[in-house]
Amino acid sequence: MKIIDLRSDTITLPTEEMRKAMYEAELGDDVFGEDTTVNRLEQMAAERLGKEAALFTPSGTMSNLVAVLTHTHPGEEILLGSEAHILWHEVGGASTLGGVVMRTIPNDQDGRVDPGVMEQTIRPKQMQYPQTTLLCLENTHNRCGGTVLTPEYTSAIADLAHHHGLRVHLDGARIFNAAIALNVPASELAKPADSVCFCLSKSLSAPVGSLLCGTQEFIGRARKWRKMLGGGMRQVGVIAAAGIIALQEMVNRLADDHANAQHLAQGLAHIPGIAIHPEKIQTDIVMFEPPTTMSAPEFIEQMASRGVKFTYPGGRRVRAVTNRMVGTADIDEALNRVELFVRELG
Ligand SMILES: *Cc1c(COP(=O)(O)O)cnc(C)c1O
Repeated sequence: MKIIDLRSDTITLPTEEMRKAMYEAELGDDVFGEDTTVNRLEQMAAERLGKEAALFTPSGTMSNLVAVLTHTHPGEEILLGSEAHILWHEVGGASTLGGVVMRTIPNDQDGRVDPGVMEQTIRPKQMQYPQTTLLCLENTHNRCGGTVLTPEYTSAIADLAHHHGLRVHLDGARIFNAAIALNVPASELAKPADSVCFCLSKSLSAPVGSLLCGTQEFIGRARKWRKMLGGGMRQVGVIAAAGIIALQEMVNRLADDHANAQHLAQGLAHIPGIAIHPEKIQTDIVMFEPPTTMSAPEFIEQMASRGVKFTYPGGRRVRAVTNRMVGTADIDEALNRVELFVRELG
């Protein structure tokens, strides 16, 4: 039985072209700034995101942590959406290693935070309060189901944060999914933010790596924090080479993942007992609820034994993420297997 793996877009394997580029990559010691392949990738990333400079990191988690460390001082407070990846899935590193208070603002179902509520959450200057110095946004929003923030929304909330003296970091792990869905350049989505990071290792199919982008001055300081965290790597052009192909060749095809997500959502909507709103699926992440006769973890376990893999994001929800390793025919097969299982239940 063929396994159809819809757990995440991180399962994507490097392409032939990536493996060839990795083999042939020109290398040097990146801690000395001498890996020309890394330098080329950092320059490409900065240009794509419309920032002055970029820093290659081993993961999105390290990019976000380096951003927080560079923007803040211990004892300060950062604002995040209540469903933020930084809050839920990064082991509390911002608090543990950055010494900052993480204060949440409720995320709406589209991954936004309300500007008025954000404004009220910023601490007034008062001796007893930690100083609020950073707002973190997320685009696309992972836990809210791959939802996109528009350039208009991003500008409005970033302007308000800046007005109150905060800096703004955008966790753009999947920013190219947002750019493709909105048909705008990623640089337009990143423009209002002081820093932005994105992942090469998700749907862009590179094996490893993320980039943090910002001003020359910011990236200069970020480079030092990366070194402290152990992220100063040597001949790392060997993986950066795949990242260059990811940026050049793998962005436009994200539209295929989005079409497959829509196809999956429409199919699920036709299976009795499955609860889903296909019109709310904006990119490659599909959230749905199984028949009420079972819990989401039970459904996921049953489907895994039938060769369709999902993940559990909490509550009644089941999560599927389309990706390059799963074609439209595989989506049809996954739908068949779900339908068969649900019908067996009666
Ligand atoms: C995946 C992800 C990250 C972290 O990326 P890793 O490379 O897995 O550490 C950060 N933010 C968001 C929104 C993500 O989806």
